Amino acid sequence: MSGFHGLFIPGPTNMPFPVRQAMDLPLEDQRAPDFPAFTLPLFRDLKKVFRTESGQIFLFPSSGTGGWEAAITNTLSPGDKVLIAVFGQFSHLWADLCRRHGFDVDVLDVAWGEGFPLDACEARLKADRAHEIKAVLVCHNETATGVTSDVGGVRRALEAARHPALLMVDGVSSIASIDFRMDEWGVDIAVCGSQKGFMLPTGLAIVGVSQKALDAHKTAKCPRGFFDFTMMGNANKDGFFPYTPATTLLRGLRASVDMLLGEGLDNVAARHHRLAEGARAGVAAWGLSLCAKAPKWYSDTVTAICVPKGFNSDDVIKTAYHRYQLSLGLGLTKVAGKVFRIGHIGHVNEIMILQALAGCEMALRDVGIDVAPGSGVAAAQEHYRETAPRMELPKVA
Ligand SMILES: *Cc1c(COP(=O)(O)O)cnc(C)c1O
Repeated sequence: MSGFHGLFIPGPTNMPFPVRQAMDLPLEDQRAPDFPAFTLPLFRDLKKVFRTESGQIFLFPSSGTGGWEAAITNTLSPGDKVLIAVFGQFSHLWADLCRRHGFDVDVLDVAWGEGFPLDACEARLKADRAHEIKAVLVCHNETATGVTSDVGGVRRALEAARHPALLMVDGVSSIASIDFRMDEWGVDIAVCGSQKGFMLPTGLAIVGVSQKALDAHKTAKCPRGFFDFTMMGNANKDGFFPYTPATTLLRGLRASVDMLLGEGLDNVAARHHRLAEGARAGVAAWGLSLCAKAPKWYSDTVTAICVPKGFNSDDVIKTAYHRYQLSLGLGLTKVAGKVFRIGHIGHVNEIMILQALAGCEMALRDVGIDVAPGSGVAAAQEHYRETAPRMELPKVA
């Protein structure tokens, strides 16, 4: 097959050339005397991406799921109560992981397509006068449904209830792509992975931890080994790791962080928003509906689209893959067969979104869903034309 395969799943995402090039190097000595000169500034700059000054960053050779495990085992004790809202496959899986670790999991069950229920959470916290809830777990961007929740609002709910629970956030498909403010929102643990907004291969869990969470860690009794903050932190303070770090990925991460900070985090978020608005304009022009139930929840990193009744979204995805070299995200569990997803996270631009929309249109029509050819592409084009930065064009001599 010629050309590039269209990768429009919400992770792994498209890898920029500078990131790939930064990883094309021989394996290196992770105990070299000059290794800390590389790692210490990397930790410092990652804090900027998480927007934390007082927090600490941990890097584990793992994936986002390992970051979840690091968060709960390092700061809680067996049997502790955690409050989590479930409104999609990823929030469901985090709740499930908590159950398998023996925590008392209090679930706020929410319809898929809605976001974190702030009022219900505040009511639960206010009712918990004995402060049995030790942590509130929030999936910032539910990748399964294309729903972004208001993490700052969860912090306000905790404050309104004067509740001391830790605030833990799954930012796997939001950090480094959409607006995320660890310190401002009082996030105690922020979990990310390498293969989404950071535009890297899978293989790193990137975890931001507040001083409050580090204090909780001192008395937390859950068994932990590989993910232990103390062991990791002791080695990290001198720029080293307690076991072999994924040095190649760390080199890629350096390039990725340089790209993100070079563009500016506000610009990165604005770019994701503009691209997502174009994708949503395309979906509206098709006459299809989003899985996300209200604009306040629309995700700027992934758009989940419902197929009309009587159609199977898996057919759209298979057709796009086999006929047009286009990978789209599947509908997961509860929305299997009902939803397909366009990932627009990381290294993406306008033309790439138009490509994805064009491929979707062909696949939709192939399976018998009557969208007007070119309608979604045209709507997105007009959005991008209207919102393109107006720059002086170079004069032709
Ligand atoms: C991808 C994803 C995860 C899982 O991360 P892995 O790296 O696959 O372990 C968790 N939460 C969200 C919101 C995700 O998008």
